[in-house]
Amino acid sequence: MTAFRTLDDIGDVRGKRVLVRVDLNVPMADLKVTDDTRFRATVPTVTELADKGAIVLLLAHFGRPKGVRTPDQSLALLTIAYGHVLGRQVRFVEDCVGPGAADAVAKMEPGEVAILENTRFHAGEEENDSALAAQMAALGDLYVNDAFSAAHRAHASTEGLAHLLPAFAGRAMEAELRALEKALGNPERPVAAVVGGAKVSTKLDVLGHLVAKVDHLIIGGGMANTFLAARGVAVGKSLCEHDLASVALGILDAADRANCTVHLPYDVVVAKEFAAHPASLRTCNVHEVAADEMILDIGPAATEALGDVLKTCRTLVWNGPLGAFETPPFDAATVALARTAAALTQGGSLVSVAGGGDTVAALNAAAVAADFTFVSTAGGAFLEWMEGKTLPGVAALERQEDR
Ligand code: ADP
Ligand code: MG
Repeated sequence: MTAFRTLDDIGDVRGKRVLVRVDLNVPMADLKVTDDTRFRATVPTVTELADKGAIVLLLAHFGRPKGVRTPDQSLALLTIAYGHVLGRQVRFVEDCVGPGAADAVAKMEPGEVAILENTRFHAGEEENDSALAAQMAALGDLYVNDAFSAAHRAHASTEGLAHLLPAFAGRAMEAELRALEKALGNPERPVAAVVGGAKVSTKLDVLGHLVAKVDHLIIGGGMANTFLAARGVAVGKSLCEHDLASVALGILDAADRANCTVHLPYDVVVAKEFAAHPASLRTCNVHEVAADEMILDIGPAATEALGDVLKTCRTLVWNGPLGAFETPPFDAATVALARTAAALTQGGSLVSVAGGGDTVAALNAAAVAADFTFVSTAGGAFLEWMEGKTLPGVAALERQEDR
């Protein structure tokens, strides 16, 4: 397990100024927060530090202001809503660096929490400017990173700062890193990966990395069509990247060499038009798709067989829905396989980790997210981790261990 320090190692924080990088980038409509999942993820770390008497200074970005102070992307807009979720009063400090911020911080008492203004109001944030990171560091004694979802970016507040202060992983970051380690870093075998979603082109690096790592690669969604077509199957009007045929064959070859079994569907759900419960809906063998039909989900026989594969596995990592799940009944395979994975997890035979924007939506729709071992809401960072990339925000925490 890669080593990083956590809040267990932070020592006495009473009266210390702790800069905590969090993800407060919540969706808003009409000045109201529409989904406070990201707020809730920060609560354990912030509560723990405040209860121990730290002066908690939250660093976060909001939107893409690109170095310009834009009032509608001020974190002031979120401070009250965030305080409600945290269950305590939260101050707002009008900048994340500089003398004004230093004055405001100097007036804070142990146990108090403040949100510092949007880090991306400074161009140096996204440039990982060392001078900006040094100005941030001047406001604090310790640094905690609790924003896994921003860890794939080497920015001043996510990476640069970790080199300037004693750095620790927050509780949410710690949970995420441990879950990901269990799923792909050092997993119990056999390992299965489900990769679905619309297009092969967006997940080439994911597929390339996984074939060398997992024992079973289950390919579903639109990208399965590209693999089927590459093998000479007629996929009709299906979403399919015909120009990626040789790339798909290359992935299948690499899987063969690595002893990774690739599972492509052998029955599919097709329709002539993409709509909810269309009249032309039918289930057929993959070799029977007509020229005017499109594949919109994996069929029930294949889904059952995939469930049997999962029963032989100890670990599952899942990114991407198996069908066009937003439109019923093309959610059937995703829901059924997710239920199987959830039941195996609850039965204690499977460690299941899932992530990806649409994947999380599909698991929530199937009401099984809570029964998975871990569901990552990190989006881009989760995918980069599935590609086997080193996340700079995580690497900066690891280096701290060596000091
Ligand atoms: P994630 O956000 O979890 O990484 P993706 O964005 O890669 O997932 O893919 C999700 C999208 O793939 C969904 O919008 C879904 O409708 C689409 N999709 C899945 N299967 C098919 C299919 N057979 N035909 C067309 N679209 C599909
Ligand atoms: Mg998506």
